[in-house]
Amino acid sequence: MELTWIPLSLIIGRSTRCFLGGFRGGAMNKAFESRVRRTGQKLFQLIGDEVPPLFHKESWTGKVIAQCAKDEAFKTEFLRFMDVLPSLKQAESVAEHLIEYFGRPEQRIPLDLKLHFTRASPASLKRAESISKEIREMVEKFIAAATPGEALPKLSDLRGRGMAFSADILGEAVVSEAEADAHAQRYLDLMEDLGRAQAGWRSLGGSDNDLDWGVAAKINLSIKPSSLYSQMSARGFDQSISRAKERLRPVFRKAMTMGAHICLDMEQVDLKNLTLALYRSLMEEPEFRRYPHSGTVLQAYLRESETDLRELVSWAKKRRHRATIRLVKGAYWEAEGVYACQRNWPVPFYTNKRETDENFEKLARLVLENHEWVHLACASHNIRSIAWVMETAKELKAPPERVEYQVLYGMAEPVQKALVKAGLPVRVYAPVGEMIPGMAYLVRRLLEMISRESFLWQRFGEGAPRGQQLKNRGSTSPLGPPAFDASGGGERGTFQNEPQRDWSIEKNRSSFVEALRKARKKFPITVPIVIDGEAITTVREILSRNPNDWNEVVGVVSGAGTEEAESAILAAADAFPKWRDRNPARRAEILFHTAAGARKKRDELAAIQVYEAGKTWAEADADVCEGIDFLEYYAREMLRLAVPQPVGKVPGEESVLFYEPRGVAAVIAPWNFPFAISMGMISAALVTGNTVVYKPSSNSCVTGTMIRSLFSKAGLPREVLHFLPGSGSEIGDFLVTHPRVALIAFTGSVKVGLRIIGLAGKTLEGSLQVKNVVAEMGGKNAILVDTDADLDEVVVHVLQSAFGYQGQKCSACSRLIVHESVYARLADRLKSAAESLVLGPAEDPGSFMGAVIDETAKQKILSYIEIGKQEGTLLVERSVPGERGHVVPLTIIGDIRPEHRLAQEEIFGPVLALMRARTFDEALDMANSTSYALTGAVFSRSPRNLALAREKFRVGNLYLNRGCTGAVVGRHPFGGFKMSGGGSKAGGPDYLLQFMVPRNVAENTLRRGFAPKE
Ligand SMILES: Cc1cc2nc3c(=O)[nH]c(=O)nc-3n(C[C@H](O)[C@H](O)[C@H](O)COP(=O)(O)OP(=O)(O)OC[C@H]3O[C@@H](n4cnc5c(N)ncnc54)[C@H](O)[C@@H]3O)c2cc1C
Repeated sequence: MELTWIPLSLIIGRSTRCFLGGFRGGAMNKAFESRVRRTGQKLFQLIGDEVPPLFHKESWTGKVIAQCAKDEAFKTEFLRFMDVLPSLKQAESVAEHLIEYFGRPEQRIPLDLKLHFTRASPASLKRAESISKEIREMVEKFIAAATPGEALPKLSDLRGRGMAFSADILGEAVVSEAEADAHAQRYLDLMEDLGRAQAGWRSLGGSDNDLDWGVAAKINLSIKPSSLYSQMSARGFDQSISRAKERLRPVFRKAMTMGAHICLDMEQVDLKNLTLALYRSLMEEPEFRRYPHSGTVLQAYLRESETDLRELVSWAKKRRHRATIRLVKGAYWEAEGVYACQRNWPVPFYTNKRETDENFEKLARLVLENHEWVHLACASHNIRSIAWVMETAKELKAPPERVEYQVLYGMAEPVQKALVKAGLPVRVYAPVGEMIPGMAYLVRRLLEMISRESFLWQRFGEGAPRGQQLKNRGSTSPLGPPAFDASGGGERGTFQNEPQRDWSIEKNRSSFVEALRKARKKFPITVPIVIDGEAITTVREILSRNPNDWNEVVGVVSGAGTEEAESAILAAADAFPKWRDRNPARRAEILFHTAAGARKKRDELAAIQVYEAGKTWAEADADVCEGIDFLEYYAREMLRLAVPQPVGKVPGEESVLFYEPRGVAAVIAPWNFPFAISMGMISAALVTGNTVVYKPSSNSCVTGTMIRSLFSKAGLPREVLHFLPGSGSEIGDFLVTHPRVALIAFTGSVKVGLRIIGLAGKTLEGSLQVKNVVAEMGGKNAILVDTDADLDEVVVHVLQSAFGYQGQKCSACSRLIVHESVYARLADRLKSAAESLVLGPAEDPGSFMGAVIDETAKQKILSYIEIGKQEGTLLVERSVPGERGHVVPLTIIGDIRPEHRLAQEEIFGPVLALMRARTFDEALDMANSTSYALTGAVFSRSPRNLALAREKFRVGNLYLNRGCTGAVVGRHPFGGFKMSGGGSKAGGPDYLLQFMVPRNVAENTLRRGFAPKE
């Protein structure tokens, strides 16, 4: 059929008297809608029957895409296989991975995809090679060129076809400053090449001022802000901006010399505010203030985008600054949804496609209404969205040169061509780079193509009718934070983790600064012993000091002796019967109230930890959240366990199992999670009906006293919890061996833990029960890195696991066991990444690592560093600034072997040992070769090796493809065995059972031959 097209100039030229647009009701709205549809139909006519190559049903790629779209399980496996493919260097390993990904009998994979592999025979190796080739070719369709050098002809070719470009250099996942430098340099090099080439390019649109369409720079680059600074974080907001600007300035300066345009891309939502602030901050600098060729991106799927746009527009107006706003719908939809659910944060985006589409239209209008200051780059392949923008631009009389249409390289070629044919200014976003650094980009593109809600899939995959696509229709995919199993939550509802602070929100950062300031003003805080609600001051003074500045006394604590310990135990013993008989629901209620109180004071609680325990902002906040989680979780658990369980089922008998508390619990807590672990152990003991004598660590008594006060304010009877700060050497053994103490809940070192277990095992005269010890001790945790691991991920997670909170977590990674084939590469990247970390006092928001807890810890760690230097090869030894802090260097030692002390002994500090394994099985043997079994992690993309690890990596908490710290209550019941502990699992469904004794009552219901019917 012959189609006719009315050129854009005619459409724009036609007089439009109506300025009501798409957001007013009534007849005009209808009229506008029908114009949008007419324009859309015309674009569709220009597309005709052309289908993008990736959707060609007869090609292998087309078949794979179709299969992905209809089979979710296949899609997952295929994208995962694609993800690992670039790291596989041999055909054998490609074939092995194909078997592992697609060889399961239950998978129903169409035969013509040729993904069926049973073994790595010569024939299958050839086939593996051809599949790799197919996938590489598919991937190359989305990437303009592998290197900046190769990019030039491709970009020139685009221009030859009437389209401008925006070049993006792939590889934003920079883990070190060296990588960020190299990335920025690649931009400078590319600009150099493009600068030379541009003289030979004719302006698009036929203008004679050497600008495309009379206004646009011929060279246009897109930069991902995360690539500008390896330590970019919302928490270290100002520092991130200032470091990113250091790399951005030379790029902008060069752009100005050649008249190039720079766009700051938009990535995940936690970098959104930072990106907008970075853009504004740079453009406010005098040298860039008047430069007209710059812009950034807004994502219509974000609920906040309208506010952001309004702010940007008013900023541009006020500063008389011209910016281009690339309006997109947003490419991180799936990942953002997962992160929001995992963090229990509000979902930041619209969960209904129609809402995103409508918001896109609304924002486009807003930009067009302010076209004098903000130019619109409409970045969409959706014909409805494009037609809407065209019509609105016309209606608002936005000059044509203030609107351009942007598309992605390799996507929707028929749409691209149609837009060019329509005479619209078209720019192609052209990524440049290799497959490995580009994988995240590629996966986003594929997800976009095969999403059932995407325009492209509906049009070219399903052949949806044009008319239907031109209506603003979308389907609903509700997505929200998950709810955990109710676990008897009753009216309180299901358990949900306390959301950690979102530091990208300015208010959260400023209120924490204020909390730190207020906390400091109260120092030194007086901390008395509290027995039976009565504050007792003693002369045994303990000073709680700031690890980052030993001159700063956070608390002056009265230490208990055996006399106070005796009083506390006797008071707790007296209170026990009444508390035991208290309705469990009322005990649980007190935990709920305590959680509410903690929530109100969470910034204060976290601020104290920054000073008292030397935790960074995020670590301190996470600790408080975990403590609240324990309260909420154990309260619900108790409600579940309080219901007697019928056991057995025979006529004439009723048998029930139920639990009751043990008696007086001595809770002996550590300093490293001063709030969370104390809260967890105390709340478990209390809610199950035990009375508690709580001895906090001498290093964290201020946090300890705040915990006591939270319980007290929540209505806990004063005789039930006694606060007994004191030195372990003075009162530790006394508490443990006291005949009236029934239960000891301990978290700490293996040395002290074993001593407690030994002492508690000896039943002294006067004892009324066998003592139970719930002990969580140390770890010598390993992360394993397989040949095919994603090293970008490995580096980030290893640094966090090994050096987060200075390595002072029992779950911290202290051994990195790496397959020899990637050892050198990983060691190199890890070294430069570690050298890029920001070190310094915990109160500094950008700080990643500060001082260790005290002088004893410092000396012990330093001695291990010396041992490490003799046993292995020193790779990193970075000193931490802070003259008055207990600082030890962040240390990485390579070439450690399993028999070395560094591979066997717990250090509890920022020291990481790198070990080399020849095979994955050997790595597993090494990992299991210590006396500990707490946490472990594996980075591998081999399903076989992951399965092997599940089975054979014997630790209490094993994490696959993530770091080994950061257990979350309810999701990762935490605790180890061997010398790591007695197998208890904090934050899991079995934990409370250890604080109780089970009882069984069986009644014979048969009386004179009569038994009640069930
Ligand atoms: C030149 C160019 C540059 C780009 N730069 C960026 C960038 O810097 N940052 C960025 O994030 N993206 C960027 N993108 C990608 C863009 O965000 C979209 O993912 C992509 O263009 C698809 O949108 P569409 O209008 O073409 O297709 P459509 O099919 O109409 O829309 C798909 C989009 O709708 C949204 N969506 C899908 N399902 C739902 C749902 N259930 N509920 C709510 N919303 C949903 C998602 O945003 C999805 O990407 C860019 C795109 C182009 C063309």
